[in-house]
Amino acid sequence: MKEIDWSSLAFGYMPTDYNVRINYRNGEWGKLEVSSSAYINLHIAATALHYGQEAFEGLKAFRGKDGKIRIFRLEENAKRMQSSCEGILMAKLPIDRFKEAVLEAVRLNERFVPPYESGASLYIRPLLFGTEAQVGVKPASEYMFIVFVSPVGPYFKTGFKPSPYAILRHFDRVAPLGTGRYKIGGNYAASLMAGEEAHKRGYSAVLYLDAKEKKYLDECGPANFFGIRGNSYITPKSESILPSITNNSLMTLAEDLGMTVECRPVPVEELATFDEAGACGTAAVISPVLKVDDLDENKSYVFSKDGEAGPVCTKLYNKLRAIQYGDEPDTHGWVTIVE
Ligand SMILES: *Cc1c(COP(=O)(O)O)cnc(C)c1O
Repeated sequence: MKEIDWSSLAFGYMPTDYNVRINYRNGEWGKLEVSSSAYINLHIAATALHYGQEAFEGLKAFRGKDGKIRIFRLEENAKRMQSSCEGILMAKLPIDRFKEAVLEAVRLNERFVPPYESGASLYIRPLLFGTEAQVGVKPASEYMFIVFVSPVGPYFKTGFKPSPYAILRHFDRVAPLGTGRYKIGGNYAASLMAGEEAHKRGYSAVLYLDAKEKKYLDECGPANFFGIRGNSYITPKSESILPSITNNSLMTLAEDLGMTVECRPVPVEELATFDEAGACGTAAVISPVLKVDDLDENKSYVFSKDGEAGPVCTKLYNKLRAIQYGDEPDTHGWVTIVE
């Protein structure tokens, strides 16, 4: 086997040895199957392809200084996938089966878990989708659950640096009472155009507003948003935001650090009062926000004058990473050690 250059890994797909699968047929989930093929045999009329019956998860495994592999918030990801299944009427995978599959996928691909020193990690991608043939619009009665993994590099290759975000008022990601709170592929399809426009204009992502009134902050395409003001951690609350497990963890850590946590509707203008801001998700933990340009309104909110991440974002980022790699004790029971 060719040696992997861990330090030059990007956030992308790299083939590994195995993936695992569990099929749902006749009203029950079957046995876990191990596959060395990266392909599936799918019916051309599968509901996943036509009606978007597809949900996914994203979590990571880390190798610690002690050589042990730690999976971060396995149970929470299992629960969120169940919620997504409920949201688009798919068969719900039991929590234990989710855990079993993720653990097996990591064990089988252990050689792809990057060494501690590299700052890289193993990205774990569970997905669940309707496989049964339907032409009429209705939920499938057969599903497939797959877990594959891919080693990914440290998100910040040139250090923990803020980047610019844009508000594009002529796009919505999701509807106010729609599917925004579920982690489903369709929401991502709906965000691609806005994301492309933001990139073309030099921004790293879009910060969405609430679709109904365009008055409140929602979230960034694939990440939640938070602001820091004095000793407060402030993050938008809305029915259309995907409940980020990273955000949930950061709120707990902020409280541990003696901060006040506010999860409530956040008016756009409040951006002007934040000392720091960040986007948060599994890929980067925190992406510090340099500024938010509200392009259609010709307004700009700046959070970093010197181009460096603020002290609170930095502290929270380091704290969470330390728990993930096992450098600090896991006092909240967030880590599953792979035996
Ligand atoms: C996955 C996701 C996030 C981040 O969630 P984490 O659990 O922190 O990785 C945020 N927003 C959307 C829309 C997502 O799909």
